[in-house]
Amino acid sequence: MAGLQKDITIVGGGIIGCCAAYFLTRHPAYSADTHRITLLEASSSSSGGRTADSLQDPASLLPPEPASKRNPAHEGIAGGASGKAGGLLALWAFPQNIVPLSFRLHDELAKEHGGDTKWGYRRCYASQCAASPGFTGGKDEDMTAADNAQSRDGNEEGASKGLHKDHKKSAKALKRLGAPEDLDWLDAEKSLGGYDNMGTPENTAQVHPELFTRAMAQMAEDRGVKIVTGAKVTAINKSSDGKSVVSVAYEKDGKQESLPTTDCVVAAGPWTSKLLPRIPVTASRAHSVVIKTPRTVSPYALFTAINLPSGFPSPTPEDRPGSTTQTRQALRRMQIVEPEIYARPDGTAYACGPTDQTAPLPATNAEVEVDEARCRDILDQVGSISDDLGRDGRVLARQACYLPQGGPFIGEVGGTQGLTVAAGHTCWGIQNAPGTGKLISEIVLDGVAKSAKLGGCDPSRLT
Ligand SMILES: Cc1cc2nc3c(=O)[nH]c(=O)nc-3n(C[C@H](O)[C@H](O)[C@H](O)COP(=O)(O)OP(=O)(O)OC[C@H]3O[C@@H](n4cnc5c(N)ncnc54)[C@H](O)[C@@H]3O)c2cc1C
Repeated sequence: MAGLQKDITIVGGGIIGCCAAYFLTRHPAYSADTHRITLLEASSSSSGGRTADSLQDPASLLPPEPASKRNPAHEGIAGGASGKAGGLLALWAFPQNIVPLSFRLHDELAKEHGGDTKWGYRRCYASQCAASPGFTGGKDEDMTAADNAQSRDGNEEGASKGLHKDHKKSAKALKRLGAPEDLDWLDAEKSLGGYDNMGTPENTAQVHPELFTRAMAQMAEDRGVKIVTGAKVTAINKSSDGKSVVSVAYEKDGKQESLPTTDCVVAAGPWTSKLLPRIPVTASRAHSVVIKTPRTVSPYALFTAINLPSGFPSPTPEDRPGSTTQTRQALRRMQIVEPEIYARPDGTAYACGPTDQTAPLPATNAEVEVDEARCRDILDQVGSISDDLGRDGRVLARQACYLPQGGPFIGEVGGTQGLTVAAGHTCWGIQNAPGTGKLISEIVLDGVAKSAKLGGCDPSRLT
């Protein structure tokens, strides 16, 4: 394949599209003289899905020189889940056919490019904790009095599941271990009911996903990739016999454009099935917050199960729009919630809540709506088990994005030569992005995935 002229178009400037671009430019058969690679990203702003008062550039928390700088021409890159995820990486993630490759590549990328300072790469711990905070009431002035509440069934079995729920033991099965000493930002004495280790620095790490994605995009561009933001792909055109890709149509600044394309990589995250209806990627909205902590908190990712006591502000149900000042109620009975908390090396902690189905996937990242009540739920809940995150923390960002679900799907689509998908990465897309990018580079430039078996990720298994 080396030496053959290829016009490669990548659809989507999330972590998957940017890693595909990066690894294509590192493939031994790649040459900027014979291969033209273009990455088209629909959004031209990364601020959709964030409240206006949120911190817009995470690099501003880091020393200016090493941090992965924002390139104004790349506005829109990492504007979705890839900029608003937790950033946990783990050898115990799934699917296991690509996890070890991707975990190793994350480590190699960090070593080669200074990822510790550029995108906050570090090894960390992951653990699960069950907590039953006391509730003194009166914390949230938006809440109506308990006696005003209608009977909303609190659910001891867990009405609100965490994002990485498949990895968790039931709270009841947690060993009654004490938390490690350096997990001193968890108010263990007040609230800890159970604790268990899930991952250690041997098999667990983290990145800042927005900074990482931005860096991948920049390094791909430095090797010849053309990045076009505000370019929404509307069609992938095939030859008259339908056997191969010939061009990609997109809209930019109100104009229809067409790009000759021999190879199209669709990495449109939760939007993928709009372009490839046979690839069953679905989307669920998820909210998250970033909190500036009064001190840098120790490197733990905590999968919590918090037993909210009666009287606590009631979490917004998955299927109902966010509660307002008038409707917020107090829990009548205890309820288990499972926010996830990731300490970060930039002096912040990130926390995310469950997914919800009340707002369908909008046309682009720019139109993603933040339901502030859901952010407030997360803040109330994590603040109930940690003063560093609650009373003493300062909220830097309230945000929402769409989690792509159903896959991951990596490989050629439906027998069309040159049509490849890389999407549907669920809650492990940050972890699995470098491996996916590497495999895509091999599929496009070698004709076959070499570094790992595609296994269940191969879209040909769908038919
Ligand atoms: C709250 C939350 C926490 C998470 N935490 C973790 C974690 O700790 N670890 C982990 O590994 N994973 C995590 N994930 C999962 C991870 O964020 C996703 O799997 C990953 O970001 C998906 O990347 P993507 O590039 O496929 O999609 P996206 O980031 O959604 O990017 C797709 C891009 O395609 C663009 N696009 C769509 N349609 C078009 C079009 N027609 N033309 C041009 N461009 C288009 C979009 O604008 C978008 O920018 C988390 C997810 C959420 C929601």
